[in-house]
Amino acid sequence: MIVTRFAPSPNGPLHWGHAYSAIVAHDFAQAAGGRFLLRIEDIDGPRSRPRLADEFRRDLEWLGLEWDEVLPQSTRLELYRKAADELLGRGLLYPCTCTRKQIEALGPKMGPEGLVYPGTCKGQQIDPTKPAALRLDVERALADVGDLSWHDALAGEQQADPHQLGDVVLVRKDLPASYHLAATLDDAADGVTLVTRGQDLFAATHVHRLLQALLGLPVPQWHHHGLLLDDDGKKLAKRRGSKALADHRASAENGREWADRLRMDQWPCGISFRST
Ligand code: GLU
Repeated sequence: MIVTRFAPSPNGPLHWGHAYSAIVAHDFAQAAGGRFLLRIEDIDGPRSRPRLADEFRRDLEWLGLEWDEVLPQSTRLELYRKAADELLGRGLLYPCTCTRKQIEALGPKMGPEGLVYPGTCKGQQIDPTKPAALRLDVERALADVGDLSWHDALAGEQQADPHQLGDVVLVRKDLPASYHLAATLDDAADGVTLVTRGQDLFAATHVHRLLQALLGLPVPQWHHHGLLLDDDGKKLAKRRGSKALADHRASAENGREWADRLRMDQWPCGISFRST
C-alpha cells in the first residue's frame, strides 16, 4: 500500500507552496487507494507554535483534503535519542561546539543547503563544559555501509552522495535530534512508502538514505516535486510577503477550487512554478 505524508513545521503559516506539496502527497495516495498522513514536525521548541497546527488542519480541510494524523515529533524524542545513542556507540557521531559564526569565519564550501561544515571538531578533544551538537561522520558512516542508491520518481536512480551536505548535525545543541534524524526515523515509524516533498530537499535525501542504511530502516521511494516561486523567482516564504492560506480562507475564497487549479498547473497571481 502507498503511504505518503505531509509534514509541516508549525513555525509559520502555510502558503501556496505547502498547499501544492500537500495536494501532491494526498493525490498520490488517493490514486493508489493508499493513505495520506499528516505529521506535525514540532520539534523546534522555541520556534514552534502549537496553535498553528490547528490552523494547518483547517487549511487542509479548506483545500478539500482528507488525512490520517500520526504522532507529532515532540512525542518521539525517545526514539530519536535511542537512535543517536546507537550511532554514537558505533563511533559514527562526533561532538561539535562550533557556532554558525565560527563556521562562516572559516570560509567553508557552499553546498546545496548552504554552508558545508569543514569538519573542524572531528577528532578533536572537545571542552565538555561547552554545549555541543553531534555530527555524523559521513566518511566513516559510508565506510560502514558501502555504496547506496535511491530512487526519485522524476529524477530517476540516484547514487547516494551524502558528502554534498558534509558532516550534518544529527543531534542539535538544544534538541535530541535534527530535522534529518527526526524525519528519517518518523517516516520509517509511520510506514511511509513514498516521500513527497519539494526539490529544495533533494540533497537532504542523500543523508536520509545513509541514515536508513545505518539504522536498518526500510527504504521508501521519493518524489521531489517542483517549487512554487514568487515574483523574484524565490521560494515562497511568509517573511517575503507570501500570503498565508489562512488569509485566503478567511476571505471566504473557495479552497477546493484553488486546489483544483493547482492540480491543473494554474498558479495563483504572482506565482510561478519551477521544476529542474
Ligand atoms: N518539516 C519539514 C518542512 O516543513 C518537512 C520536510 C520534509 O517533507 O521532509 O520543510
